[in-house]
Amino acid sequence: IRVRPLTCTETRRGDRPVVHSLGNGTVHVTAARHDATFGFSAVFDAGASQEAVFEGSGMRQLVELAIDGFSCTVFAFGQTGSGKTYTLMGPLSQSETQPAAPGLLGLMQRSFACLLEQSRSRGSDLALSASYLEIYNEQVRDLLSPGPPCALPLRWSKTRGFYVENQLRVDFESLEAIADLLLQGSQRRQTSAHTLNRHSSRSHALLTIHIHNRAGGTGVTLPIMCVPQPSACPSKQGTLCFVDLAGSERVKETGSSGELSVEANNINRSLLALGHCISLLAKPRGKRTHIPYRDSKLTRLLARSLGGSGITLMVACISPSSRCLSETLSTLHYASRARRVTTKP
Ligand code: ADP
Ligand code: MG
Repeated sequence: IRVRPLTCTETRRGDRPVVHSLGNGTVHVTAARHDATFGFSAVFDAGASQEAVFEGSGMRQLVELAIDGFSCTVFAFGQTGSGKTYTLMGPLSQSETQPAAPGLLGLMQRSFACLLEQSRSRGSDLALSASYLEIYNEQVRDLLSPGPPCALPLRWSKTRGFYVENQLRVDFESLEAIADLLLQGSQRRQTSAHTLNRHSSRSHALLTIHIHNRAGGTGVTLPIMCVPQPSACPSKQGTLCFVDLAGSERVKETGSSGELSVEANNINRSLLALGHCISLLAKPRGKRTHIPYRDSKLTRLLARSLGGSGITLMVACISPSSRCLSETLSTLHYASRARRVTTKP
């Protein structure tokens, strides 16, 4: 859980903070008729730095697991304006020529740095490439391919599960190159201004790093008789996926109308489908029914991360403001349910 500081606007209009971290992974919400405590694996309060979130959330371990061939996913969710994009990417820079201060970089850039450090120390063992997609109005679009955005088909196969056909995958070898891909892609992402957040994301964005570890099974010790020729060592293919979900919102509060409310309904519909899948997955295995991944593009793309063979970190972002109380409580309940979901990596 990450609690952001009160914004200037919230402070100016006299909002009270109603969320307090009690240490030890517990967070306490107290307001007129509410008094509730929730427990999580980690809670970061308003004073927590971006570095503290990277080190304390298990993100570094996730990068290492992806190098070892696992499918790892981190996703940020929460109300619009709760700090999802900030947590993943840091504050949006004022201009291209004035990038964000290094201390403010988010989980993504920190993970890239960690990955490239590993890549350097392992020589040519790691081959890295990236793809970047957005789901906007229930259409999957490529954020890296040039030209106007066009919808890509989302398919399913027995061996691959759900996958996006014809998505562009760009090789990279340096931190600058991947930072550049992130910047290019996020500038193409659909955003529009409404009253809660001036740069509100109107789409779900998924950036995936594909890691081909040619060195293969170095971590596994086999009896000497079974060791094949070194060149026949199996290679590993891991992925590290960053998901920036568009925030949930109540149309009345954000002042959305016309096209904006169509977007909002699509966003809310896919988040509802995600919530539904998570609730079902959180039930004990014996009591589970069919999981409706097919209800939205988002849940199809996240199927493996949610209930399959992936390893997933969810960062729930909340505002401390008294005005956001009901959304905050709903995010905390959502996150508590998500905690009970287990996958089989
Ligand atoms: P979301 O992506 O959830 O809609 P943003 O990440 O865009 O929200 O955050 C909304 C605003 O709050 C932005 O101006 C952002 O810079 C600010 N903000 C969010 N989290 C923090 C934080 N931990 N510290 C300082 N400012 C933050
Ligand atoms: Mg955002």
